[in-house]
Amino acid sequence: MESFIGLEIHIHLATETKLFCGCRARFGDEPNTNVCPVCLGYPGTLPVANQQALFLGYVVARALNCELSPRTVFERKNYFYPDLPKNYQISQYEHPIGRNGFIMVPLPGGEVRKVRIHDAHLEEDAGKMIHAGDMSLIDYNRAGYPLMEIVTEPDLKTGEEAEAFLIHFQRVIRYLKVSDGNMEEGSMRCDANVSVNFPGKGLGTKVEIKNLNSSRFVKKALNFEIQRQIGVLKQGGTIRQETRLWNENRDLTEVMRTKEMANDYRYFPEPDMPPFEPDPVFLEKVEKAQTELPDRKKARFVNDYRISEESAEFLIASRYVADYFEEVVQIGIEPALVASWLSGDVQKLLNRHGLTLDTSPMSARRLGQLLRLLNEERIHGKIAKKLAELVFEEDRDPEIIMREKGLEQIVDFDVLRGFIKNVADEYPAVIHSIKNGDERQRGFLIGKIMEKSQGRAHPQKLQKLFDDFLSEVTA
Ligand SMILES: [Zn+2]
Repeated sequence: MESFIGLEIHIHLATETKLFCGCRARFGDEPNTNVCPVCLGYPGTLPVANQQALFLGYVVARALNCELSPRTVFERKNYFYPDLPKNYQISQYEHPIGRNGFIMVPLPGGEVRKVRIHDAHLEEDAGKMIHAGDMSLIDYNRAGYPLMEIVTEPDLKTGEEAEAFLIHFQRVIRYLKVSDGNMEEGSMRCDANVSVNFPGKGLGTKVEIKNLNSSRFVKKALNFEIQRQIGVLKQGGTIRQETRLWNENRDLTEVMRTKEMANDYRYFPEPDMPPFEPDPVFLEKVEKAQTELPDRKKARFVNDYRISEESAEFLIASRYVADYFEEVVQIGIEPALVASWLSGDVQKLLNRHGLTLDTSPMSARRLGQLLRLLNEERIHGKIAKKLAELVFEEDRDPEIIMREKGLEQIVDFDVLRGFIKNVADEYPAVIHSIKNGDERQRGFLIGKIMEKSQGRAHPQKLQKLFDDFLSEVTA
């Protein structure tokens, strides 16, 4: 059996205000506080298009390699539901911002798939219904949020591929800084279309799955639905065209409505809104807002910085981390060292303190400073780890902490010889057995000398001086 998956992804664009009024567009505010006569659909009010939303919409469409519309038109999509105060939604239909695009998506197993984009259009979000017992509550703060809908062609085959697509897509929109893409907060949502058919027969009957609010649910719901449809076909049945919901408690999809119940939206051009025709200055700004996307960046990191694929993958997962990495490298620290610190010690400390890199006291400048101290052998590895911990605890520069706490490595030969002499005097018998080839005792004694220096003796120099010392001692 062959399977075909297309996705419809909605993202909230990161604008200050809503799409057609001046209300604040922000998640988490007190319900029904960001509302006005326009977004509540009072008679006689007039919508005014948010220029920033149009701009971000074009930025997304351009990044998805779409043909950009020279004249984009808002239309009314008519339907009745309590979360939609106007009883129609202002959306786009015949003239979306972009169409016929594509995106290259790295899939599990190494393949990079070209997934075609049918269209990318702008619309206003509806309010949010909260069902509690036999009550339904409504929050209109979300009504009128600028929403970008991206519709792919059915170029994906499995739940795993759809999940990989979403993770990649989320990175792309975060790189572009057009949306936070946060699925838990609903600023990125996904519906999926899926059909299966006998090999070579082309697309089957399409079933839509709604309410997929995490990429993991997308994977589970699609894999369930593919198996369900295969089961029906194998038993000689037919698939009904319908909309189903993912039930996350029972791990299955359930019928929501069938085709007979589908709406006729009676689209028509929004009479209160002129079409938008981007001028060359606008389009130039759209071009300037394009950025190196994650896959490109990864290839460049591997190539230019000679770091492993795995390290590069870690770094490019977030644009902030990738930029941070390059900032430290520009300070003059070896890329592989920076990468290993970021994925290792720094990540451990972030987890321990419940922070992310952008909110942590370890700025790029501070990590650069710390690694330079290490490179110049003013501290050794163990002290560097200790210093990193202190930077997190005290929110101060590592060099200042090092000086204040006297953590600088001791390289002065006379001082080191003094430690060796002191310890040797304390353990004459041990010195004797080391001279006779007892290597275990040697480790013990070096440990004692290190202790004496409070862990600050330069390890290699200490080893060297200890050897010199031994050769001078008569057995
Ligand atoms: Zn409003």
